[in-house]
Amino acid sequence: MRILVAEDEARIATDIAEVLTASGYVVDIAADGEDAWFRGETEDYAAVILDLGLPSLDGVTVLSRWRQQGCHMPVLVLTARGSWNDRVDGIDAGADDYLAKPFHMEELLARLRALLRRSVGHGAAVISHGSLVLDTRQMRLTIAGRPVQLTPLEYRMLSYLLHHRGRVVSQLELTEQIYAQDFERDSNAIEVLVARLRRKLKIKLIETRRGFGYLIANDDA
Ligand code: CA
Repeated sequence: MRILVAEDEARIATDIAEVLTASGYVVDIAADGEDAWFRGETEDYAAVILDLGLPSLDGVTVLSRWRQQGCHMPVLVLTARGSWNDRVDGIDAGADDYLAKPFHMEELLARLRALLRRSVGHGAAVISHGSLVLDTRQMRLTIAGRPVQLTPLEYRMLSYLLHHRGRVVSQLELTEQIYAQDFERDSNAIEVLVARLRRKLKIKLIETRRGFGYLIANDDA
């Protein structure tokens, strides 16, 4: 899943990006409000972490503009400590959650996971699907109780398809959500990755809809 981090303090932005990348997300960083607004409006992000104190265009304005333009991605705002009026402004502008600085990365990750789950309508950190169980906190997969080791790319793809089960996901959308920005976009890469994942899973799970994309059907059980 692709996440936008809009934060002008380079060290904080880099720290967040490192933690998110290690947790299986793809991260873009915007260091000012204009860039954040532009990226949020033109790219398809699963969620945004938005510092309210940004240069060139403040976070509240960025967020209000996105919402006015119909960008509905979940947004977690970062506010200065004790600044309750920032929080109120952020929530009024359309934020889904907030976190005061300084914060623990674990809390940021937990809030982000909760936002992502709510945005696709799944309530739990552990996704069960038939005999498959994906623990999104520990990035662990088991099938019928058997642990399955996944590479970060395989994890990102499986997690994305499971979060969007019941819907056909195009190759382009998968490419955008699981690869870093500078990745050479080659449609074969997705096909190869799906084939590798299927071999590892050894169960019928990911369906191909030729010309449209891939689908994990809803679990009827
Ligand atoms: Ca700032």
